[in-house]
Amino acid sequence: MPMFVDTSPPGQCIFCKLVAGEIPAATIYEDALTIAFMDIGQVNPGHVLVATKRHAVTLLELTPAECAAVMQTAQRVAQAAEQAFGPDGITLFQANGAAGGQTVFHFHLHMLPRHVDDGMHLTWPRK
Ligand code: C5P
Repeated sequence: MPMFVDTSPPGQCIFCKLVAGEIPAATIYEDALTIAFMDIGQVNPGHVLVATKRHAVTLLELTPAECAAVMQTAQRVAQAAEQAFGPDGITLFQANGAAGGQTVFHFHLHMLPRHVDDGMHLTWPRK
């Protein structure tokens, strides 16, 4: 199956439509600057994306207030994951640009509850 890639401009990308309520999402938290929702791909149970409401493409475009709000929201959803799943660990992942692994070009951060037996192996930065 071809990889889903969304380089649409502001207002037309999948996450802008999600923020606007034009497409459904399992939203678990939102505030003035950020929204957190279940990743449709669920790499493992509890996989959440924290996105800016404004269409910024990468970390480099965020305002200081958006940077702070994104990490505050990430902490909230990590705390919720801690209660809901009792993970062994939590991974935050955030990709910028195609070469950085980004496929949806509207800023977002992944929050992944991790279990030692989840079959996933972090290969970066260590082999
Ligand atoms: O970091 P990256 O840009 O690759 O992440 C994009 C994420 O957006 C993927 O994990 C994908 O499953 C998710 N996605 C989603 N809902 C959509 C389209 C993509 O949660 N409608």
